[in-house]
Amino acid sequence: MGCEQPAVVLPVRASFPFRPGRLNSRVMSTLFGKIVRKEIPAQIVYEDDQCMAFHDLHPQAPVHVLIIPKQEIAKLGDAKQEDAAVLGHLMTKVPEIARSLNLRDFRVVVNSGAAAGQTVFHLHLHLLGGRPFSWPPG
Ligand code: 5GP
Repeated sequence: MGCEQPAVVLPVRASFPFRPGRLNSRVMSTLFGKIVRKEIPAQIVYEDDQCMAFHDLHPQAPVHVLIIPKQEIAKLGDAKQEDAAVLGHLMTKVPEIARSLNLRDFRVVVNSGAAAGQTVFHLHLHLLGGRPFSWPPG
């Protein structure tokens, strides 16, 4: 059941707002899972046993890197106490990765859920830099 879904559907912002549901979350999750398993290419800037960081395909700033856990957690809103170590690991890697990309100031964004703008349902931090950012965000 469910095998009739396409193997890869590129998540594009043009599709937002999409219908929340099983199709979207399963397909999107598979996409970053494929990057973790090196089944599809990405410009990787950092990797260890728990996480990976790679350039966003559609950068919203001169530097736009996604930092993801290798463990598949669909969204921050699903995180549990048992995920504390990996989430802490992601956050503590941010300054190291930012430094490696020559970023002094930067913004970190996590979209959790479709209404918040999440399109790929494998938890990820957006690390953005290289330009000024305004507040509040859109
Ligand atoms: P979200 O909208 O879920 O917070 O962020 C998903 C991000 O993944 C978007 O910024 C989008 O540009 C990026 N993205 C989608 N597909 C790919 C892909 O195949 N490769 C890479 N490197 N980034 C992707």
